[in-house]
Amino acid sequence: MIFGEDLEFRMMAKGMLGQHPLDAGWGQFTHQILPGVCFKREVYYGKVDPRGTSQDCPDCGAKVKKDLSVRISHCFEYGSIKPSAMAAAQVISVGNGE
Ligand SMILES: [Zn+2]
Repeated sequence: MIFGEDLEFRMMAKGMLGQHPLDAGWGQFTHQILPGVCFKREVYYGKVDPRGTSQDCPDCGAKVKKDLSVRISHCFEYGSIKPSAMAAAQVISVGNGE
């Protein structure tokens, strides 16, 4: 199974990330190429609402407020410390029934 965040690349391009996401072809990759390859290989591809995935603790569900520059998720409720991207991936996989 593969899950991709359903990001709005045109909005990102207008914001702080400038033109980069469009130049890099990320929208085409996640919206067309990846789903197409998954379909051919009979791999489940799911789109995930990106809101909040990087703000929740995957272990206890508490909000761990941080901005994108903070790369470590440190939950003071549960005491878990892990890379932000890994925590977000866990939140996504649990939210989609593993
Ligand atoms: Zn926690």
